Amino acid sequence: MAKTQQRHASRLPARTGADVHLADAFDHPGCPLCRERARAESAFLEAILAESVNDVPFREALDAARGFCAAHSRAILDADRRRAGSLGAAILLRATLVARLRELEALHAAGGWARNRRAGEASRPPACPVCRRVADADETVVDGLVRLSEQPAWADAVAEAPFCLEHLVDLTDRRSPPAWWRPIEARQLARLRDLADRLDRFAHASAHDRRHLQTPDQVASVDEAADVLAGAAGGPREAVSPADARAVLVTGVYGAGKSTVTAELVDRLDAAGEPVAGIDLDWLGWYGAPVAWDEHDDPRLTLRNLSSLRDTYLAAGVRTFVLAGTVRSIAVVDRLRATLRMPLDVVRLDVDAEEVRRRLGGDALGSRAEDLEVALHDLSSSPPDLEAIGVDGMRPPGDVATAILDRLGWELAAAAGSDPG
Ligand SMILES: [Zn+2]
Ligand SMILES: [Zn+2]
Repeated sequence: MAKTQQRHASRLPARTGADVHLADAFDHPGCPLCRERARAESAFLEAILAESVNDVPFREALDAARGFCAAHSRAILDADRRRAGSLGAAILLRATLVARLRELEALHAAGGWARNRRAGEASRPPACPVCRRVADADETVVDGLVRLSEQPAWADAVAEAPFCLEHLVDLTDRRSPPAWWRPIEARQLARLRDLADRLDRFAHASAHDRRHLQTPDQVASVDEAADVLAGAAGGPREAVSPADARAVLVTGVYGAGKSTVTAELVDRLDAAGEPVAGIDLDWLGWYGAPVAWDEHDDPRLTLRNLSSLRDTYLAAGVRTFVLAGTVRSIAVVDRLRATLRMPLDVVRLDVDAEEVRRRLGGDALGSRAEDLEVALHDLSSSPPDLEAIGVDGMRPPGDVATAILDRLGWELAAAAGSDPG
């Protein structure tokens, strides 16, 4: 059910096709030059598979280069699987393998001092044609971007863009930059200094008793630093940016019906053609590891798991996240928001003690009895202020889901064949 996102027109002026692509890259999160590089890379892989598998000059060049590098050996197969199958990749990977095998055979046959030299030859990385082509394209884009920044709109976008370190160095690496470039460089350096400061404050506030002092900005700094230093791996084209995604947390006491209502919401959204994921937070923090913190007050493993799931689902094209979980403080909601990096609404299912007793009491299992005790305790104290939308949770799950979608203002496409009746 991969759906292509509706692309809004970029606010950056673009004259050529290359500029249009570049402007589009600036509308997405992450380093725009990494995104452009990933685009050039998949376009080149596509072109090789479509035109060059049996092209004599290309094949001779591939042999001379000793085949593809490790990353592009994998990428050529992935690209082929996405388009047709794996025949093209089989032919090209064989060419690479034969070139490398020849060297390994020579090493195998060699003795004495020659063995050392043969080993050196066999371990050299290939002069991968995809790497070379991508590097050339990268250089062209970097030069073009410096020129484009003569225009004020571009200058501003470039000064604010979250470039990775490698691309920032590429942009900065010119002997006599044009006059308009120096202020942009200064703003980029200020961004990295600010990031270093936020990391420092994050580290300082990481002691258990000071964690409430951490701001979402500081919490996000760790991921940002990894993005800056590692660059962005090119995800699939249909990947959704967090800015285009949305989330709702369905909360309430044990027995309020969070999981059931979440399942209902996911079904409704899915039936309406919305790429959606349902996540039970309680499961993300259910472990028996000997850790020194209480996951309820400080759900750090839950959040790390959630962060991985967020990336996986966004890369797969998921746009809507429905979370279920008991949350007892606004600080935890803030940290969920910082982890998701997308708008998050909180919905609280309101139920009374009678209903909870009916739902949880029938089960003789020890854990259920414990849940009931905790739920009754939670109900007897005033609910935590989570800035939540309260929804009557006493009704059937279908009605509760309808009420939630109404309150959130999430419109479902007309295709929805899910009239609750
Ligand atoms: Zn980059
Ligand atoms: Zn390569």
